[in-house]
Amino acid sequence: MRTFPFSAIVGQELLKKGLLANAVDPSIGGVLIRGEKGTGKTTAVRAFAAVLPPKRVVSGCRFGCLEGMPRCGECVARELSGETLSHESRSVEVVDLPLNASEDRVVGSLDLEAALREGSKKFEMGVLGKANGNVLYIDEVNLLDDHVVDVLLDVAVSGVNVVMREGVTYSHPSRFLLVGTMNPEEGELRPQLLDRFGLCVEVTGEKDLSLRRQIVERVLAFEGSAPGFVEKWAQEDEALRGRIEEARELLPSVAVPDHVLGAVVEVVADLGVAGHRGDITILKCSKALAAVKGIPLPDEECLADAFRLSLPHRLKEDPFEEAASGRRRLDAVLSRFGAPKPGRT
Ligand SMILES: [Zn+2]
Repeated sequence: MRTFPFSAIVGQELLKKGLLANAVDPSIGGVLIRGEKGTGKTTAVRAFAAVLPPKRVVSGCRFGCLEGMPRCGECVARELSGETLSHESRSVEVVDLPLNASEDRVVGSLDLEAALREGSKKFEMGVLGKANGNVLYIDEVNLLDDHVVDVLLDVAVSGVNVVMREGVTYSHPSRFLLVGTMNPEEGELRPQLLDRFGLCVEVTGEKDLSLRRQIVERVLAFEGSAPGFVEKWAQEDEALRGRIEEARELLPSVAVPDHVLGAVVEVVADLGVAGHRGDITILKCSKALAAVKGIPLPDEECLADAFRLSLPHRLKEDPFEEAASGRRRLDAVLSRFGAPKPGRT
């Protein structure tokens, strides 16, 4: 299946930044995309996965154990039997979680009879097994069974899927980038679940007429395989892939100055956000965005974007209004500190 080039997506800047920040630092915890149907959410996510650098995985492992990460029991057993594991490159895929999926289908299932009969652990992989090293995409996450969402979000944090059935336990790595979408008109997610998504973006249909026109032109060019369209944007996507790789290398050396840290904590507390995930996510996100820009400190734009991405779903009332006032308060606090603005030192 052909994928629309990520670089050719018109508008949706904040969504693109949120996805890229996660590509650079997966510990940010994924993106929840809120918006009506037909706003290009699914296209954007598939295009995003296609632009990610390939991953290095253990050859022959069904869970695609990632190089340098804790391995599954099957890989460990292969090593114990004297095999030297080799690695190969695989492209990152989008793994879909169907809405009606049962818990077994999500976490996988253990063959209890085999366990009793032969003492062996026969495990049939579920969606969380396939998701390892990939993008796990849940369209309309607000319609998913609450219990399944709980399990997913636990695994998203721990990176390990543990299945327990009648005293038999099986576990395997499950590190994925979680992207959920929801149409707020069809019901909200529980606040505890909202808070577990690192970032949240509201997408709306583009209103600017020239941009709308550009969107239509590009979609038609893509669908009609216009000469040069694919080549042009493939080059842009390739350049972006290189930037993601560079940003991953740069990330550990990106620093947040003390006065900025102070301002972030103060503004988040001032907005009445409970818990610390908001602050932590803002800092991680601003650093990742700085790395994407190739700068050693988050600048004002990185910070403002990090606020806009990290807070909407963590505020109690009309989140997007509040986020706007959060931005104003951040400006006020930063200027009160009287410190040099980040990124200009
Ligand atoms: Zn493995």
